[in-house]
Amino acid sequence: MTSYLKHDEWLIIEEGFNPENNRASESILSLGNGKMGQRANFEEAYSGDTLQGNYIAGVYYPDKTRVGWWKVGYPEYFAKVLNAANWIGIDVKINDKTLDLAKCRILSFRRTLNMKKGYLERSFTAELPGGEKVTVESIRFLSIVMPEIGAIQYSVKPVNFNGKITITPYIDLDVRNEDANYGEQFWEEVNRETGNGEGYILGKTKKLDFTVCTGMKFNLLKNGKPIRYDITRNEREKYLENSCSIHLQQEEILTIFKYAVNLTSLDYRPGELMHEAEQVLKIAFTIGFENLLAEHTKAWIMKWDDSDIRIGGDVAAQQGIRFNIFHLNQTYTGEDERLNIGPKGFTGEKYGGSTYWDTEAFVFPFYLCTTNPDVGKKLLLYRYKHLGKAIENAQKLGFKNGAALYPMVTMNGEECHNEWEITFEEIHRNGAIAYAIYSYVRHTGDYKYLEDYGLEVLMAISRFWSQRVNFSEPKQKYVILGVTGPNEYENNVNNNWYTNTIAAWTLDYTMGHIHSLRNSNPQRFRELAAKLNFDFEEETSLWRDIVDNLYFPYDEEGQIFLQQDGYLDKEQSLAEEIDPNQRPINQHWSWDRILRSPFIKQADVLHGIYFFEERYDKETIRRNFNFYEPRTVHESSLSACIHSILAARIGDIDTAYNLYLRTARLDLDDYNQEVAEGLHITSMGGTWMAVVEGFGGMRIADGTIRFNPLIPDQWEFYSFNVRFKGNLLNVKVNHEVIEIRNRSNATIPVNLYDQEYLLEGGDDLVVHRKK
Ligand code: BGC
Repeated sequence: MTSYLKHDEWLIIEEGFNPENNRASESILSLGNGKMGQRANFEEAYSGDTLQGNYIAGVYYPDKTRVGWWKVGYPEYFAKVLNAANWIGIDVKINDKTLDLAKCRILSFRRTLNMKKGYLERSFTAELPGGEKVTVESIRFLSIVMPEIGAIQYSVKPVNFNGKITITPYIDLDVRNEDANYGEQFWEEVNRETGNGEGYILGKTKKLDFTVCTGMKFNLLKNGKPIRYDITRNEREKYLENSCSIHLQQEEILTIFKYAVNLTSLDYRPGELMHEAEQVLKIAFTIGFENLLAEHTKAWIMKWDDSDIRIGGDVAAQQGIRFNIFHLNQTYTGEDERLNIGPKGFTGEKYGGSTYWDTEAFVFPFYLCTTNPDVGKKLLLYRYKHLGKAIENAQKLGFKNGAALYPMVTMNGEECHNEWEITFEEIHRNGAIAYAIYSYVRHTGDYKYLEDYGLEVLMAISRFWSQRVNFSEPKQKYVILGVTGPNEYENNVNNNWYTNTIAAWTLDYTMGHIHSLRNSNPQRFRELAAKLNFDFEEETSLWRDIVDNLYFPYDEEGQIFLQQDGYLDKEQSLAEEIDPNQRPINQHWSWDRILRSPFIKQADVLHGIYFFEERYDKETIRRNFNFYEPRTVHESSLSACIHSILAARIGDIDTAYNLYLRTARLDLDDYNQEVAEGLHITSMGGTWMAVVEGFGGMRIADGTIRFNPLIPDQWEFYSFNVRFKGNLLNVKVNHEVIEIRNRSNATIPVNLYDQEYLLEGGDDLVVHRKK
């Protein structure tokens, strides 16, 4: 754990500059607006350690696979989110010497992410090797009102000298990905245009021909007033700059406003991109920095009005949850159903910007509950549109008759990850996609979605499960062999309890909806059956047999669900017995040692219990939690949130609180010592769940929204909003009372501590807290 950031309710503050933390800060203080993202890199030159990152949603590269031993069924490529043109660059020279913080004496430094208003601020005073001292102040944001626009205000002030300041804004497409498999560059230049005060580069990605126009336009002020200046233009392939030299007296301030645009062929015809980019940039330039920022800030404040969680009396916890919500809202806005949420969002290269089961299992509830239902639907449609590819994927592995195996990692529906133990074996991901359909329908009441799209996906996934099981003669049960469960520290196991649970549930849930559709809309059912060549009698009777006879490993003695066959054969020990210097074990131990150890990377059995909690009484949950939590090393960011929710469920509020801090501050305090690579965006949805479902005890059952709130001692109060069936509720909990306000016009039934209430539009319900 490393904590160098200051605690504050709305700001993330790095005070003082330690180059060793630079990559971490670049991740933590990243900006994004759903269409693009930018790590908190410096505008001016920096020769120290940095990971340059400017990413554009939906633009990726299918990098040729590198594996040691090729296996049939492997995809040809691993998708990479691309480091795109650097548009933030502003080189600064002081009396012809480059300002480079790696080569200066830094007298003061502060970098701040303002989460309330959505911008990054930086200020420093540095002394150059020649003795000149300068103060720099900058503000940068990626507009959420004009999402193709980013803007920077950057000021330089000589502190102890009169001299020449040269400001050189530039665009640089001569960039690389650190994780390129063969070290190649992914961009080619198509066109370049430079004018005085502006410039555009049109770039195309290799192989897939995504075309992007990145442009800049700028103006300079001296002491807040326009000045005349000469511009020297320089350019070469993939690079252009405008350079301006101004003489300043000590304490005078030179400010550049740099506006940038990124337009892509996802939204425009490639031939029109350059012209369109000029037009969009012209509009932004005319609106001006202050107005753009004011509009942007206003939009952020509205976003917060829907999605904020307030926590009183615990600044670390408050900062943690806002940090998570802020980044979720920066990453995905639900406006484009071609996009999804990569585990690192726009904050790093790892995980390739691709979609994982994380979306359905961890972030879906956040968007479902804090934005309009259309956003949840877009996330489901993303998978619906990939159904054909999921069927092809299953076919490649030998499945037939429309069985679908969704990819573990994808950009366009194709599998793009190749480690046999994950690609072929981590099949539980199929279940999360089915579960998200269930959550959506429960939450919105949109049964039409099932008829039109959802059921088709469920049937294809069910077909996969029905072919993936086999009947074991010795056990006289169906079994699922050779899988990797959510705990990736075990591979090729038999009967992973979680996988078997979600498989049986999917079959059962799908059959339920097939039966209702047959009754309620026989014609639509006939259409669907014809389209899918579905033999109702034959297929559903097999599915029923599997549901009734699937094997689940169980330990009679400890009365716990067993993670997989043979889990107890392992030499048992607890995570607290591991030498702290050996943590995280995935950075210290050989894979062989990890596989043979009993240590669990992330919630596995407990994830199954979380999904289907209503099936288990509190004692069963407690027994399983008490067995698995001490064996879990939480080396996936996706772990602590689920454990925190279950700890709250069994009333172990201290453990729930500690695990909450771990999930909420995972990146801020760098628990897993890897934040330098980027943030854990998808686990941030889990943090939101830990407050709302964990402490707030929110559940949806029998068409009603229920709450069962607890409150940690450390908190004075907390409050959150949730949307349910199109209505918005605000829930506030303190140590004395629970207050639920219906922020909509419709009357909503609400269940609080197992008591039903009808809340009219605008009404407040106040009930004493159960202790
Ligand atoms: C986790 C997976 C997850 C992936 C991307 C891995 O470390 O074990 O469950 O899908 O990260 O977040």
